[in-house]
Parts: sequence; C-alpha cells; structure tokens
Amino acid sequence: MKILVISDIHANLTALESVLEDAGAWDSLWCLGDLVGYGPDPNECIECVRQMPNLLCVLGNHDAAALQHIDPDSFNPEARQAILWTQETLTPASIAFLSSLPHRINSPQIDSNPPLPITLVHGSPRQPVWEYLLDTHNAGHNFDYFETPYCFVGHTHLPVIYVRLETQNLTHLLVPEPETILQLTPRAILNPGSVGQPRDRDPRASYALYDSEENTWYYRRVAYDVEAVQARMQAANLPERHIRRLALGW
Ligand code: ZN
Repeated sequence: MKILVISDIHANLTALESVLEDAGAWDSLWCLGDLVGYGPDPNECIECVRQMPNLLCVLGNHDAAALQHIDPDSFNPEARQAILWTQETLTPASIAFLSSLPHRINSPQIDSNPPLPITLVHGSPRQPVWEYLLDTHNAGHNFDYFETPYCFVGHTHLPVIYVRLETQNLTHLLVPEPETILQLTPRAILNPGSVGQPRDRDPRASYALYDSEENTWYYRRVAYDVEAVQARMQAANLPERHIRRLALGW
C-alpha cells in the first residue's frame, strides 16, 4: 500500500494542490495535523483533505487553537492574530471536521489489510499535540511512548528522521536529501516536513510517500506559486512576517 504522508498544510491550498499533483497515485492519505493557521485558505484546505480516499488525520496545535481549545495568548502576537482570523473564517463544516480529529492513531487498518506498524501524532508520542522533537535527546526519550516500529510526526516543519539503535541505546538524526528513497529499519520517528510553511530554508512544499510493502520512505519537495499565496494573505490582512517567510522557507 502506498501512503501519501503530509503535515502542517497551514491553510496553504496552492502548496497542497502542488503536492497532490506531484505525488501521483497513492492508496491512502495521512495528514499529521495543522491543517489551518498562518495561511489564507483554511476552509478550502479542509474541504480538499476531507474528501480524500482512506484519509487518516490527527489534530495539530493550530487546529486545537482554531477550535478555541487553547488560549490564543499562549501564542506569539502574530500567530495569535492569525489564529483569531482563522477562528472568524472557519465555516461550521470546517469546525465539525477539526472537532472530529483524534490526537493519536495507533496501528491503523486500511480496508481489509492488516494493521500497519505505525503511530500517527502531530507533535510527539509523549505529548501528541504540543511537544516539538528538535533534538536526539528528546526524540530518544519519546521512543518509550509508542509501541509500533515507526511513529510519523509533524509540528517542527523540518523533514527529518530519528533512528533508534536500541542495542547501543543511541538515537541518530538523519536529514534526508530530497528525492531519495530510504529503506526503513525499526525503529524510527519520521517527519515528512511541512506542506504549507517549510522551515528548513527551502521554500518548496515538503512531503513523503510511505510504501508499506517495500517499507520505504520517499521524501520529496515540490515548488509552488508562493506569490499567489502571499497575495491572498495580503488581501486577508494576515501578518506581514508570515507572508515574508513563505518565500524563504523559515
Ligand atoms: Zn505547524
């Protein structure tokens, strides 16, 4: 089974459409949260994702904030402004969809296939909605918080892989090159990067294709029309800093 793994769309429909076009054929779409926040197209992105076949999706911190589960004051002033705009913009159908999202999915089963050996969360297996996995020390501790060989995460907007070598009690950070197909070995925490707001100084949308039969992770980047998104953000009066960062990928 071929699975398209995406995360952190952040209401960027142009980036999302470019990824869907670039990815070719797949059997199931897995979305690791933060469909909204920052970008100008929250309802359009939700509408697009929710129609996808065999969709699995977890809740992100910006999704939770848009649902008013979190005090907007816990975000920095610009993120807060974007969250308030998103709250005002979301339709009842979008709110219903975000409200239906779980914090975590364990060993999902697609159709009549056997369960897949993966845990899905937005942030980390220890704190599914909030924790950022930014170093091998933290990532290493998190291997105690899921049972499956693999855990797919988003949240940092950085396409990286943490590989656990249990016998040596070591966790390695792997930063794959785009367009590489990696053969996976147990255990690992894998991040496909961000569709709508990459933060590794590469502005292209980031995603991965997981092949459950081959046990491979195919990490890819795709360029999209950043200026079109920036123009929609201007029109919506979204924060200048969020508009600028899209072109540079930070
Ligand atoms: Zn995010």
